[in-house]
Amino acid sequence: MTERHAEIVGAGFAGLTAACALAQRGWSVRVHERADRLRTTGAGIYIYENGLRVLEAVGAYAAAVRGAPFAHTREVRDDRNRVISVHRWQGSRVFSVVRQTVINALAESATLSGAEIVLNSTAVSATPDGVLTLADGTTRKADLVVAADGSNSRLRDSLGLLAKRKYLVDGCTRLLIDKTPEEMGTEGATTIEYWSGSRRVLYTPCSETEVYIALTMLDRDEAAKEIPVDREAWKRWFPHLSSLIGRIRAAGRYDRFEYIKLRRWSAGKVAVIGDAAHAIPPNIGQGGGCAMMNALSLSVYLDREQDVPVALATWEQNERAITEHTQRVSLMLGWPTTWPPYLRAKTLALAGKSKWLVRQRTKTALHHPTGT
Ligand SMILES: Cc1cc2nc3c(=O)[nH]c(=O)nc-3n(C[C@H](O)[C@H](O)[C@H](O)COP(=O)(O)OP(=O)(O)OC[C@H]3O[C@@H](n4cnc5c(N)ncnc54)[C@H](O)[C@@H]3O)c2cc1C
Repeated sequence: MTERHAEIVGAGFAGLTAACALAQRGWSVRVHERADRLRTTGAGIYIYENGLRVLEAVGAYAAAVRGAPFAHTREVRDDRNRVISVHRWQGSRVFSVVRQTVINALAESATLSGAEIVLNSTAVSATPDGVLTLADGTTRKADLVVAADGSNSRLRDSLGLLAKRKYLVDGCTRLLIDKTPEEMGTEGATTIEYWSGSRRVLYTPCSETEVYIALTMLDRDEAAKEIPVDREAWKRWFPHLSSLIGRIRAAGRYDRFEYIKLRRWSAGKVAVIGDAAHAIPPNIGQGGGCAMMNALSLSVYLDREQDVPVALATWEQNERAITEHTQRVSLMLGWPTTWPPYLRAKTLALAGKSKWLVRQRTKTALHHPTGT
């Protein structure tokens, strides 16, 4: 059988996972990344059992979670710092990790598997017959083009695949802070989500030496969105966290939450994966997990079926449902953000106790990804 060639656009979680999985199945693979180095924004990330299984399948697991704590318990606290819900992950794994560590691990595995990663290479469009056009005007013909170029995907838009793009009411500033001597180590971690009005502070140890902080607020809340973070304002809103907030040094990066749905996940020989296909608000921390699952499963369907458009249609038919479930649940869990504190606390407490809701919320994490 002749070697098939894939051109992948974007070296994030989706593109790099696809690069590993395709190269490991005998494809020649070239990844185009517009940046001058492999970097990721957003400080830390939770990776649950589903994403961890994908990392194992593509040979990046050990390096990705090295030094990361097992985030076994998650607490939610109300405006008066009272614990309103606790979830313990039993019988499945979840790690909170520095994002760059995961990107480095995936890039290393992709390169070892034979993929070529080209930096400073921006793609502008693709056609269903597998022709990729780069910003410098060159074109590349491939058996498969993978659009993994994030939520502002130019490739997706060049193919007219977008069905819905919705900006949500809230967003988040993310950064890392250094651990204090008392916090050092990689013992299992309790992550805590503190609420105050519509604002939230998420505290997550994520490496031997660092803690991931996510400050969530309404997008119209200009004071809370300010970059660099207005530490004095956040201390006023969360007086019980004043020493934690005082440790913030990094400016942080703000992103508004959004939701993307496509008419189809492919057009001819072009597959769209990751945020480009299905950006998900981070309320259950699964955007990266779904990106990696769909990148791996893509390679499995292409392995089973030589005709690329047919393989891509079957891939979408079988894999889209779990991603859409994840989007629905994540959107739903965002609703209480704008509710009065009393109603929100009651709802979150109930959500923590309802077996049905916990099942819906954890379904993606416990999903057995295709190819693992
Ligand atoms: C606040 C917040 C918290 C989150 N927390 C979690 C979490 O805990 N767990 C989780 O699983 N997910 C989480 N997510 C979601 C997760 O960050 C995304 O789903 C994931 O990063 C998507 O990866 P991607 O590879 O599709 O896109 P991206 O990470 O956006 O990567 C796209 C890559 O393509 C490159 N690129 C873009 N355009 C071009 C072009 N034209 N040519 C060449 N290269 C290009 C970019 O430079 C980039 O490197 C969170 C998201 C947010 C906003």
